[in-house]
Amino acid sequence: MQQDAIIIGGGFAGLSAAYILARARRHVTIIDTGTPRNRFAARSHGVLGHDGKSGGEILSEARAQLLAYPTVTFIDGEVDSAAGAIDDFHVSIDGHGTIATRRLLLASGIEDRLPDIPGLRERWGKTVLHCPYCHGYEIGGGPIGVLATHPMSAHQAAVVADWGTVTLFTNGMPEPDEATLALLERRGVSLQPGAVSVIETGTCDMQRVRLENGRTFDVKALFVAADLHIRGTIAENLGCAMEDSAAGKILTTDAIKATSIPGVYAAGDIARAFGNITLVSADGVMAGLGMHQSLMFSARS
Ligand SMILES: Cc1cc2nc3c(=O)[nH]c(=O)nc-3n(C[C@H](O)[C@H](O)[C@H](O)COP(=O)(O)OP(=O)(O)OC[C@H]3O[C@@H](n4cnc5c(N)ncnc54)[C@H](O)[C@@H]3O)c2cc1C
Repeated sequence: MQQDAIIIGGGFAGLSAAYILARARRHVTIIDTGTPRNRFAARSHGVLGHDGKSGGEILSEARAQLLAYPTVTFIDGEVDSAAGAIDDFHVSIDGHGTIATRRLLLASGIEDRLPDIPGLRERWGKTVLHCPYCHGYEIGGGPIGVLATHPMSAHQAAVVADWGTVTLFTNGMPEPDEATLALLERRGVSLQPGAVSVIETGTCDMQRVRLENGRTFDVKALFVAADLHIRGTIAENLGCAMEDSAAGKILTTDAIKATSIPGVYAAGDIARAFGNITLVSADGVMAGLGMHQSLMFSARS
């Protein structure tokens, strides 16, 4: 049966859109591989009414609530491709065949690519962190590192200084300009030039940052701005316009989260710089409203 909407990605953005469509009694299928971006962190913070719950717990509660709506279908699977045009898209799902739909929401998120430094990846979401607003409070002050990966890393170090005493490891990045150096000094950030060779376990639950020159620094946590990439090639193959943001490439959307391709919407980290659960949930709600209004006012409402 043709769906009113198919949602690719049952994370925070996708499920938020699904509520709107389900409550408008529209037939909506959500397809999800179950790997949300924050799966590496044991707890999520700053989410209204859910502070400290795991991301997985928040998502499974939402999923259970959504399944109470008779027009909602969930498929645990991976979308391989999507093609077609407004009112007649076809979505191919690995092992589940093809489903037809009138509207499509891309909510499949982004991937964080980390610098290739031994010891970094396995600490991601635990003591190697991306955002002080999400996880800075739990560090509880003390020495904190910031690994430079991006021209904005010095700015990140200046911000993180509100959560502890910060060392910025420049790791081969160019030295900040004079104004930035003055800002870092004002914020009490110290600079460590030299390449980082490995992140090890230090004493007393500390993380040890070892430089190639042999110097070591124990920190309670290390902040890193990962390289952000849109997951998969579905948006690209559909021809959706993209733009550069300060955080990497994102899909271009309008105020109701419509992409450049009629009938295709995008919400969440895939279509915004610097997402968090609350912001991407709001995007999902907007996309749900946009899709519903578009269905309502089309010739075949
Ligand atoms: C380590 C870490 C910790 C974080 N902690 C917090 C926090 O404490 N508080 C906070 O507010 N924010 C936090 N964030 C940010 C937050 O996780 C993201 O902003 C949010 O997950 C983005 O939601 P989304 O729905 O856009 O994408 P995601 O949550 O990444 O969901 C995308 C979904 O799409 C699915 N998918 C992908 N490709 C396909 C496909 N081809 N077919 C089917 N399904 C597919 C994936 O399995 C996934 O479930 C954290 C991020 C990271 C990296």
